[in-house]
Amino acid sequence: MPALKTPDLQGAARASHGTGPDAAQAMADTDLMEKLVSLAKRRGYVFQSSEIYGGAASVWDYGPLGVELKRNVKEAWWKSMVHERDDIEGLDAAILMHPKVWEASGHVANFTDPLVECLNCHRRFREDTLLSEQAAAASDQLQCPSCGTRGKWTEPRQFNLMFKTYKGPAEDSAEIVYLRPETAQGIYVNFLNVQQSARQKVPFGIAQIGKAFRNEITPGNFTFRTLEFEQMEMQFFVKPGTDGEWFEQWRERRLAWHREVIGLDPDRLRYHPHEKLAHYASAAGDVEFFFGGSIGDEGWGEIEGIHNRTDFDLKRHQEYSGKRLEYIDPAAGERYVPYIIETSAGADRTTLAVLANAYREEAVEGETRVVLGIKPSLAPIKTGVFPLVKKDGMPERAGQIHEALRVRGIPSFYDESGAIGRRYRRQDEAGTPFGITVDGETMENGTVTIRERDTMTQARISQDEVERYLQERIG
Ligand code: ATP
Repeated sequence: MPALKTPDLQGAARASHGTGPDAAQAMADTDLMEKLVSLAKRRGYVFQSSEIYGGAASVWDYGPLGVELKRNVKEAWWKSMVHERDDIEGLDAAILMHPKVWEASGHVANFTDPLVECLNCHRRFREDTLLSEQAAAASDQLQCPSCGTRGKWTEPRQFNLMFKTYKGPAEDSAEIVYLRPETAQGIYVNFLNVQQSARQKVPFGIAQIGKAFRNEITPGNFTFRTLEFEQMEMQFFVKPGTDGEWFEQWRERRLAWHREVIGLDPDRLRYHPHEKLAHYASAAGDVEFFFGGSIGDEGWGEIEGIHNRTDFDLKRHQEYSGKRLEYIDPAAGERYVPYIIETSAGADRTTLAVLANAYREEAVEGETRVVLGIKPSLAPIKTGVFPLVKKDGMPERAGQIHEALRVRGIPSFYDESGAIGRRYRRQDEAGTPFGITVDGETMENGTVTIRERDTMTQARISQDEVERYLQERIG
């Protein structure tokens, strides 16, 4: 929960993982985010919500390429967490839940941030964030980031981050429901349903991807902190006493996933253990990515939280629902409330990390080439298909190749307009890893050129080999 997150980084974690690579440091200006916002709009990754009405602040829409990229991130997660494992089951719980869930979870009482308002310009901020950013001990030392006034603040007020609404026609307090601020609670209340129907034995996990909503006081930084976002959460139920080992295992697995499956630069990834713990946790830490700019602590921002939630949640739900939430181990003849290790990743923040990690500018033949070096397995479009010229049967042949790839489930983009160099550049910027060009030689001997986005090298292969060539490299 945000209110309980420690702002500062541990020196040890920083020393062992560096402070971001040189290339990233060079981009560490607020510049990168501005460039990403502009590229994202230009290429159809992300648009501001309700733009024609002047935009809805801190809400974003994913365009044609963005929706594909985010789906690929989510599918990679689902594959690693659910399909590749016998001991994790999937779930899709509803956003709206019984209001008592949020009393039991502690969200009604504790899901708060300390809000302060500048008495001069009336802008509102999170006091804890300002204190850590300005290395101050008390609010009378704080300077307003908006108007520069120092030490003129309202008393901090605990502001609940849950969005409230009403069920049914009467806007009555008895009918209050909340938009869930995390997906985890849907998993806890279904713990026995899943365990019994899937005949799972502890240790086992339940995974879910879904929307969550938080009325953040200071949202911003593009899709890093928004009011509505998607989480990819997995709750792993273990026997008390084995939780320490499982926490370590999941911490390592999740870091490896961001590095190896998502392809984030290892120098821009680190694990940051929490010093202060949330009321439900006995150990916790974040997987952080170096975004640069004003995100998080000197550019390092959380993309996933790993928590040992003990038996807090299940015990609270037992207490509030009056239903037993115990695991019965017939072999050992014991019953107990399991401990839970949680891995909670943001689909939007991970997608943003993929974009920030991939963005680069290179000088090529006196021009700047903008490239999104997204891993081929995640790239929205896998290949461009280009006829060199719009005649001599080349468009038809290129069209056939494009169609054949699409039918085989390889997202492809056909483009015949403009000089070939410009067509390559457009796809470089869109993150498309390969480009197939049909030219005069194709018409003579059935070979095409295949160009790699990252190296710009070209190889000649038979048209019949194209699908296999791409499949081998897309992964
Ligand atoms: P922060 O301290 O940045 O507010 P948190 O510690 O509150 O994050 P968790 O409650 O652990 O975050 O949520 C798990 C994940 O959900 C985060 O690692 C992040 O990727 C994502 N997430 C949380 N809040 C937001 C938000 N407002 N916008 C986008 N993603 C979010």
